Amino acid sequence: MDGLTDLSFADHALGPEQTLARPIGCVGIALHSGRRVRMELAPAPAGTGIVFHRTDLGVDIPARFDRVVASRLCTVLALPGEPEARVGTVEHLMAALAGNGIDNARISVSGPELPILDGSAEPFGFLIDCAGRASQGVPRRVIEVLHPVRVEDGDGFAELRPTAGAGLTLSVSIAFEAAAIGRQALTLTLGRRSFRRTLAAARTFAVAHEIEALRAAGLALGGSLDNAVVVDGDRVLNPAGLRSPQEFVRHKALDLVGDLALAGAPLRASVVAHRPGHALNNRLLRALFADASAYRVVESMPESIAAAA
Ligand SMILES: [Zn+2]
Repeated sequence: MDGLTDLSFADHALGPEQTLARPIGCVGIALHSGRRVRMELAPAPAGTGIVFHRTDLGVDIPARFDRVVASRLCTVLALPGEPEARVGTVEHLMAALAGNGIDNARISVSGPELPILDGSAEPFGFLIDCAGRASQGVPRRVIEVLHPVRVEDGDGFAELRPTAGAGLTLSVSIAFEAAAIGRQALTLTLGRRSFRRTLAAARTFAVAHEIEALRAAGLALGGSLDNAVVVDGDRVLNPAGLRSPQEFVRHKALDLVGDLALAGAPLRASVVAHRPGHALNNRLLRALFADASAYRVVESMPESIAAAA
């Protein structure tokens, strides 16, 4: 029993808001600085959303798309006019929270970057499982997309479209020169079950020749084969290989789920993305919220009514 059989396919867009049942913490290495960082996930009241708290600075940073200040290698949030009040590499934790149906949580972190752990969302999901979930008795608000919104970047694009479904459906494709990655595509309706089975364990990845450039720029100092898949041409350099043949596109879909979670509420939409990245994902949300006719905020259906419909 995985404990998920009672949940509908789009459960995270249905039912009441949820938080964690109790706090839980961990210590890990930050990917870019290579430093040790302490993190704690804690319950938060209904309507809070996800809020980061820098324990070393004493500041709160809301996990919202309009707080994203950098997105080249990872998604970085900061307070307006206070670039030091930042927290980076938030996307895998945001994906784990969204994929596990956690609406409200306070995330304390002892430095400017979250721990990378194994490079996937699975360890964050494990922490959420250990903490447990608590229903908060308040209907979820859902952001329903009403007409298509599209952004483009070179030969990549991302588009939100209306859906007949209750939650978020993803269609993601990638195309890389490195033969070990090549072209991959994935379509998935997001729910706790599909997130955990398909996306959660997919690790971040890098091409070997890019890593030297990152290191020279003082980035990826905490990166290793323990927290990233590294490919060189047609070879995967990790001795244990891939977790699934589709691990690359699955990770891009995981990043997309985490970046879209910065909308502040679950999306009722279909998202189609080709060669997505953190910058494109953030531009998609900014384009959505810049067009008041493109969306509306609705209360989610109670799960019991949705199941009977
Ligand atoms: Zn990622």
